[in-house]
Amino acid sequence: MKVLKFGGTSVGSVNSMLSVKKIVEAVDDKVIVVVSALGGITDKLINTSKMAAAGDSSYEKEMKEIVNRHIEMVYTVIPAGHGREVLLDQVNELLSELKDIFQGIYLIRDLSPKTSATIVSYGERLSSIIVATLIEGAQWFDSRTFIKTEKKHNRHILDSELTNQLVRETFREIPKVSLVPGFISTDKLTNEVTNLGRGGSDYTASIIAAALDADILEIWTDVDGFMTADPRVISTAYPITELSYVEAMELCNFGAKVVYPPTIYPVCHKNIPILIKNTFNPDAPGTIIKQEADHSSKPIKGISSINDTCLITMTGLGMVGVIGVNHRIFKTLAENGISVFLVSQASSENSTSIGVRNEDAALACEVLNEEFSKEIEMGEISPMKAEGGLATVAIVGENMKHTPGIAGKLFGTLGRNGINVIACAQGASETNISFVVDGGSLRKTLNVIHDSFFLSEYQVLNLFICGIGTVGSSLIEQIHAQQEKLKQERGLMLRIVGIANGHLAYFTRRGIDLADFRKELEEKGIPSSPQVLHDEIIGMNIFNPVFVDCTASPEIAGLYKDFLSHNIAVVAANKIAASSEYDIYAELKQIARLRGVKFLFETNVGAGLPVINTINDLINSGDKILKIEAVLSGTLNYIFNELSADMPLSKIIRKAKEEGYSEPDPRIDLSGKDVIRKLVILGREAGYRLEQEDVKTHLFIPDKYFEGSLDDFWKHIGELDADFEMRRQKLESEGKRWRFVARLENGEASVALEEVEFHHPFYNLEGSNNIILLTTERYNEYPMLIQGYGAGAGVTAAGVFADIMSIANI
Ligand code: ADP
Ligand code: ASP
Ligand code: MG
Repeated sequence: MKVLKFGGTSVGSVNSMLSVKKIVEAVDDKVIVVVSALGGITDKLINTSKMAAAGDSSYEKEMKEIVNRHIEMVYTVIPAGHGREVLLDQVNELLSELKDIFQGIYLIRDLSPKTSATIVSYGERLSSIIVATLIEGAQWFDSRTFIKTEKKHNRHILDSELTNQLVRETFREIPKVSLVPGFISTDKLTNEVTNLGRGGSDYTASIIAAALDADILEIWTDVDGFMTADPRVISTAYPITELSYVEAMELCNFGAKVVYPPTIYPVCHKNIPILIKNTFNPDAPGTIIKQEADHSSKPIKGISSINDTCLITMTGLGMVGVIGVNHRIFKTLAENGISVFLVSQASSENSTSIGVRNEDAALACEVLNEEFSKEIEMGEISPMKAEGGLATVAIVGENMKHTPGIAGKLFGTLGRNGINVIACAQGASETNISFVVDGGSLRKTLNVIHDSFFLSEYQVLNLFICGIGTVGSSLIEQIHAQQEKLKQERGLMLRIVGIANGHLAYFTRRGIDLADFRKELEEKGIPSSPQVLHDEIIGMNIFNPVFVDCTASPEIAGLYKDFLSHNIAVVAANKIAASSEYDIYAELKQIARLRGVKFLFETNVGAGLPVINTINDLINSGDKILKIEAVLSGTLNYIFNELSADMPLSKIIRKAKEEGYSEPDPRIDLSGKDVIRKLVILGREAGYRLEQEDVKTHLFIPDKYFEGSLDDFWKHIGELDADFEMRRQKLESEGKRWRFVARLENGEASVALEEVEFHHPFYNLEGSNNIILLTTERYNEYPMLIQGYGAGAGVTAAGVFADIMSIANI
């Protein structure tokens, strides 16, 4: 014999009703079907009665909707001549009773718990007679006659002994299909209608299955099974194949709504398996809950949470070593019907925190303050401190037993993602680690833990790439080419979860298909702006996030602070943030340090050349940078290398522009602005408080050429050719060359066109290359030299890639 329970959504619509019929009629065995009220009806009954009690006459409109919903359901699922008329009479009678009760409440403006329980019972009474008519040959049973409760601590608790006996008597003969309303019960002494609590139909089904030794309890709902986390919060949650009773119990108790918590115990006691199935997708295998579940795969099985948590903390030296304090705490709370779901006590015994629901907090404080009033008066214990608005999260799995590193991974993940743990508890059974966080960070907490425990056996970095011009797209191509190799050989998964250009942005937790990222962006992107990026990226709450800025936009650079403050690492090819005011640069570095996230910008100077990292390594190992001399502008180096009798200054500037070596307005290069920014960044990394204005600038083109429009510039720049050629010839005859050199010495920074002699290391600098000469305390007589391509999309993207890789090593 099987017991099948169908929840509210399974009997909520015409289609789902017809599925229920199909599922039940396909069972060969005898079957007892337990049903909930039509989806949403219990809530509606409760609200309508509150409205009536408050004298709000619009309760009548609500009542009408309740009537219509049931009558329409009867007409659409039961064909004429199939018992519809009899059913309509029964349904109408129940609805008219209900109407009278509401009217009574409206008139006397009073709603007792007893009346409330009577009202909600109509939901299951109505739905169960409809389903009983729908399924051919089904026999209806009234659960109020055999599910019995008793009152304890002001709550209605199941009387299992009596109930078991009555269930067995009722079902001495089991028909092929029995139909039972879930949730409802009666008091064993007064026979008044009671119920098993919200979600209680699961429990009704479990009680019957256990009492009758059913082969299986099937809970049919609206999801594919028991999921790794609440699918309404975590979109990537997926069904768990097998759970043990203990695991299921731990998860339900902590808010996994899919099964009502008391449901597990009766069937577990009888070793009857529970199968969770989806009425809307009967082919999905679902989840099986049994004694011994498969433990071979992940270290944890699921995550659940309660966002309604208040932490009550009792502190005081008067508790240390005193026997019986905990006994008094729990006895007092139990006597007042307050349930405690988390306890955390320091081993010094001078502080105990307990987690209760917010609604119980005031009473809990009051009764504990009273119980310990003497100690509080004498100053041995402080008055109870209550902190509300919190959330409790539990990770659950029997695999945790004797497996080191799970707590480490959990708290490491939380810490790296900037989530503060307020209290935590792990029982010695090692099947559950629970912890309390601020209610506002619950969603993020669930997301980061789910991603880190379930979504990959690999270390994952979730990348947001902003800017897909030459550098950005080259980076994406490089990542695409390396992705598989990094996964296989380094266990590292680089997943691009966001891409944006100036117009569109696209985000997906599953990762973007890099072979076709432009198409995906075009087709699925939303209009982009710095604000959209800010809100979407922070709102996504994804774990191990890295924001990669391949733009040159000041607005995008302005987002770094908030990103870093939300523990999102930043890798910038964009130079603006690191070269803007010193205080901004210092603040970003400081936030990154305090938060333990990386802010990297190696490609700001010398593209992919390891300049900033080298300076950092030298300083971290105790060296001191005494002098930096460098050629940092590929454009200017190209211009001075190409200058010749046939190629005067104006012509080579034009050529540099045409060949894409310079900015569209070449004056940005000629003014040395770009070099100044780079020098400022190097100086700061070397430990100097440097602003762009501090750099002494000696330009080789007079100021007036920078003042007018770009057209004026092109018109007049030729005026300098003759003089330049004369100076060039003189320089050549002396065996020297021009280099635009950035220099930092004793904290003094300058940029200038310098003449270098043949034996100088800068003399032979080819093409648009960069060179950096570092004189340090250790590299003194022979300075350290870094040289190579200083520009170009490919090498810059490679430098950004290297920064991303270094984040993976944290
Ligand atoms: P029913 O009406 O069938 O009893 P419920 O609404 O009580 O259904 O429970 C099913 C719902 O529980 C799902 O739709 C889902 O939103 C929610 N839920 C919360 N946590 C989980 C979880 N871990 N696995 C599956 N569903 C969950
Ligand atoms: N109808 C009841 C409720 O909504 C019982 C149940 O659905 O399990 O709480
Ligand atoms: Mg339910």
